[in-house]
Amino acid sequence: MDAFEHTCEICGNNDWRVVYSGPIRNGSFGNLTGGECLIGQCEMCRVQRLQEKACVDTSFYEGEEYRKLLEEPTDVGGYWSRHDELQLLNVSALWPHSLRGKSVADIGCGAGSFLDHISGLAKRVVAVEPCQVYHESLAARGYHVYPFAADAAADGRGRVDFAFSFSVIEHVFDPRDFLADIGKLLEDDGILVVSTPNRSDVLMDLLEKEYPKFFYRTVHRWYFDTDSFAHCAQHAGFEVMDARCVQRFGVSNALAWLRDGRPTGNKPLQHFESALMDDVWKRFLEEKGVGDYLYYFLKKAHGREDRKQ
Ligand SMILES: [Zn+2]
Repeated sequence: MDAFEHTCEICGNNDWRVVYSGPIRNGSFGNLTGGECLIGQCEMCRVQRLQEKACVDTSFYEGEEYRKLLEEPTDVGGYWSRHDELQLLNVSALWPHSLRGKSVADIGCGAGSFLDHISGLAKRVVAVEPCQVYHESLAARGYHVYPFAADAAADGRGRVDFAFSFSVIEHVFDPRDFLADIGKLLEDDGILVVSTPNRSDVLMDLLEKEYPKFFYRTVHRWYFDTDSFAHCAQHAGFEVMDARCVQRFGVSNALAWLRDGRPTGNKPLQHFESALMDDVWKRFLEEKGVGDYLYYFLKKAHGREDRKQ
């Protein structure tokens, strides 16, 4: 298959199997690519990736085009209005770690919603974000701003106890290099927390015709499940301390998908305005590993980083 005749960026193998062929999401729900796109799965490390010619260029994230494609506001206040409410989940995921007195970095921090939620505890805050639009505001809040993790690592003042990267690794050109660069930024006993969508999301099975063309999208080059992410982390010189599956959406979201074939976020359906029902649904999926989102806690595997050839 021509689209996948190349070496896997993560494991170096060259053996891909096409697992999806068809239109995929290009922006918000309802916007599909005109043509057919292919998703391949590496037979060695099991990562899935979008064929390169269908991916957006990584320079896309340095300006306002990415937010425009998602039909999101492009200014700092607009970013906060969309992302502040998501931070409770990220902060909750940190339990039982404390950030008090620690130096921290958020890789792909956007306009700094997560950092604003934890900066009062942290000793020093590093904000890594390729989109220049947010830099002035991040610096005005006292954060040390760099476009990429490699830039922060190259600056001797950039070393941190905790690094975070929420919903970023699925976008980057090379996830293994991305993690390895963050490793250079971390203190030797530092902890890296990474999150990404779970391709084993229960809706991929329940709605095998409708959901994949929403789940696969032009802005996501990489699609992980628990095991394939662990392979990637190990190749980048980390070991997995903890992997947690999280379900972000209540039962109404799945029911609305099944009834209407469309996303409804966390808006409850009539008769389903029940926190208890949602809690049971979320815990059930998380226990089975088929929730929609994954968090990983990583630490450096000293002396075990395998170099790329
Ligand atoms: Zn591979």
